[in-house]
Amino acid sequence: MRVAVFPGSFDPITLGHYDIVERAYPLFDKIIIAIGQNSQKKYMFSLEQRMHFIREVFKDFPNIEVDHFEGLTIDYCHSKNVNFILRGLRNPADFEFEKAIAQTNRELTKNNLIETIFLLTSAGKSFISSSIVREIISFGGNYEILVPPAVRVAPKTK
Ligand code: ADP
Repeated sequence: MRVAVFPGSFDPITLGHYDIVERAYPLFDKIIIAIGQNSQKKYMFSLEQRMHFIREVFKDFPNIEVDHFEGLTIDYCHSKNVNFILRGLRNPADFEFEKAIAQTNRELTKNNLIETIFLLTSAGKSFISSSIVREIISFGGNYEILVPPAVRVAPKTK
């Protein structure tokens, strides 16, 4: 079975993430969207909220699983017996960063190779990032145009 892990923070999931998953969906038998949880990091949305959003977004995609993990992505992949990591590329900065990680992961998994598969962002989605969405949310702006409809934040009460 061809299975890929799509790891990320998804704080929150955006239309950029959605685009990558939707386009990778026909390429794999299963995609596991896995939230990498770092206990040192501060998130805007709790792990439960982020998982809930992703489950809602992909509720009509039977071959998508939602999970979370701590530690190295490659260790998580091995624990799930998965040989592919899916990542999205938005710009040259993403490329440089991702190249180093993917090459390190290849080196670290020589005996049980994990390959990273990259999809280029669709035109019109490359400017979207979770950090920009969080910024807009925190200032009460129109974040809805950047995220799937399942991601809705309760309006602030004054
Ligand atoms: P991380 O903290 O691991 O970068 P993110 O949740 O920000 O987690 O991103 C997860 C993956 O989704 C990464 O591969 C990232 O490049 C990709 N991604 C994020 N936004 C976009 C976008 N607008 N278009 C394409 N890929 C994206």
